[in-house]
Amino acid sequence: MADEAIFERINTIKKQLGPKLMILGHHYQRDTVIQFADERGDSFELSKKAANNRLAEYIVFCGVHFMAESADILTAPHQTVILPHLEAGCFMAEMADIDSVSAAWANLQQIRGQRGKIIPITYMNSEANLKAFCGEHGGAVCTSANAAKILRWAFTQGDTVFFFPDEHLGRNTAYGLGVALDEMAVWEALKVHGGNSPEKIQRAKVILWQGFCNVHQFFTPEYIEIYRRMHPGIKILVHPECPFEVVQKSDYNGSTGYIIKTIEAAAPGSKWAIGTEMSLVNRLQHEHPDKFILSLAPFTANCSTMIRTSPAYLLWALENIVAGTIQNQIRVPEDVAAKAIIALERMLSI
Ligand code: SF4
Repeated sequence: MADEAIFERINTIKKQLGPKLMILGHHYQRDTVIQFADERGDSFELSKKAANNRLAEYIVFCGVHFMAESADILTAPHQTVILPHLEAGCFMAEMADIDSVSAAWANLQQIRGQRGKIIPITYMNSEANLKAFCGEHGGAVCTSANAAKILRWAFTQGDTVFFFPDEHLGRNTAYGLGVALDEMAVWEALKVHGGNSPEKIQRAKVILWQGFCNVHQFFTPEYIEIYRRMHPGIKILVHPECPFEVVQKSDYNGSTGYIIKTIEAAAPGSKWAIGTEMSLVNRLQHEHPDKFILSLAPFTANCSTMIRTSPAYLLWALENIVAGTIQNQIRVPEDVAAKAIIALERMLSI
């Protein structure tokens, strides 16, 4: 089917379903998909918007799997959350699974004994059962926008933070709060004691799961130096999922929402190199033609799983709603959702 025919059919179904349908579009979705989104945002923002819209019976989440899970946890039982492409997972979220994290937790407790309480904190970009793990063990969820606030809280609850799955967000945030690099340990799941000596674990204030985003991981300090040489006066704006050295060399770092607001507030004629997912950088370029905006990557920094959702998949999901044959419904088991919501509510109350 030609693109125009797909677009027309999506619009027809949107009109037909009216307020019963809500399409959510993550900032990293391609423009041909985002044009149909009733709401755009980051993962948590979108889940909250879905939860606040009780009229919508069908929530089609154009994003990745963990986002649809969070939406299912936060929405009411009469709301059905659908992921148009079932293979749209998140590389980072899949780097930490409940069995490996539980094994690491048991090992950490054994090494630490009674000497110091550990608080587990999971990034929003994680499977629902890891959010449940944090709910069950006195921890919380964080987003890239509130990670500093959540870590500060965690240090009032215990002596050490066990942070997963993103090593870089954990390190960048903890360092910003004054934790020295040698007070952090990286936990490598397949190694004895995560690849650390028991003494290192005893001393650590932060234990970082060795996980990363396969988009943000590949920005380097060398690119920053090259861009600064090529474009004098350029400002470097990066996401805190980027490696420590990149964040340290940047001018500004912050969540997706922070990046968007920074560009919106920037002076006409200002120059920016942005270290985040390409679809968002492209959109910022189009929406701000009065500013000079580049991707910080000399490669195509697209999220290979976000990009799996195309208008054709969206249409397929919508046609199945109309036909009464729902496909790709994302359902978090009740017991997992009940514990995950504790960690999410803790985040909201902090
Ligand atoms: S950009 Fe990175 S963190 Fe975001 S969904 Fe893709 S792999 Fe996951």
